[in-house]
Amino acid sequence: MKLPVDRDPAVREMLTGILTAAPGRLPAIFEEARAVRSAHSGRKAYLRAVIEFANNCRCNCLYCGMRRDNRSVERFRLEADDILKAARLAAREGIGTFFLQSAETEEYDAEWLAGIIREVASMGMSVLLCVGVRDEADLDLWREAGASKFILKHETSDAGLFASMKPGLDLSDRIGWLKTLKRHGYGIGSGPLLGLPGQTVESLVEDLFLMKDLDVDMSSVSVFLPAAGTPLESSPTGDVDLGLRFIAAMRIFLRRTLIPATSTFERLRPGGQLACFDAGASVITVNMTPPSIRDDYELYSRRYFVSLEHARSVIAAAGLTEASEGADA
Ligand code: SF4
Repeated sequence: MKLPVDRDPAVREMLTGILTAAPGRLPAIFEEARAVRSAHSGRKAYLRAVIEFANNCRCNCLYCGMRRDNRSVERFRLEADDILKAARLAAREGIGTFFLQSAETEEYDAEWLAGIIREVASMGMSVLLCVGVRDEADLDLWREAGASKFILKHETSDAGLFASMKPGLDLSDRIGWLKTLKRHGYGIGSGPLLGLPGQTVESLVEDLFLMKDLDVDMSSVSVFLPAAGTPLESSPTGDVDLGLRFIAAMRIFLRRTLIPATSTFERLRPGGQLACFDAGASVITVNMTPPSIRDDYELYSRRYFVSLEHARSVIAAAGLTEASEGADA
């Protein structure tokens, strides 16, 4: 694969320096990251609402509680009415982006999802998808229905680690799929899972280069937390401080991307999402999956579910103003 971004040794050194910075250097690094954010989006923080609507995954990722071989998870698929009820609530609250997320599954067809996308778009919200790899025809159908953004996490830029964590899948296919999404007119998002066993700082730097290569619109990092019933259930959690450094590195290197403060930070450290904003994040996502089933969307065990009140309090504490990414980001 041709890599358009020059792996300039000075840039590599700069990024490595951020990821390995001594604690005393962090306030200045985070201040620089906030200055970059401010130059691109002023005082704005973007609020999203997510609904996780199906968890029966055909994949078998070692780190994920919804992996195919985990028999201890109840499988579900929400009805369209439940999804649209949550969307109406989000619209009433003035949330600009509705995020439809599912495991990689064939349990619903593309037309069914297109109908939901059409309804949500008609409520005036922009629609973000994270539903894994599907047919290219589905991408067109959903794009025409009103979806404009698509997240497909690459998880790690280390091809060997990727293959061992995602059996049967291949990093270069995933990168190719991100390019396909772009070709079909989507704004794309990607990012690593930080703290996978065997991951190195060098590979995290490559994650940053890869996202630059792909010219992503949204970049994110989640911190690894073990999920019960998976081969990694006894592995140590990822390092929150390294995660915050990674956010700052994304902001300083990628500049304009939307960067979420993911729930894994709050789960691992109370105040973790505010710390993400202090390191340059610009998005927070409210979880609108019905409480009766959301524990079964088990990306990791004992998830932290972001409420609207919590999200708004984090934005206020960060000194930012709630805004809609649909209109201007
Ligand atoms: S990480 Fe995604 S693709 Fe992998 S098992 Fe979990 S839901 Fe499926």
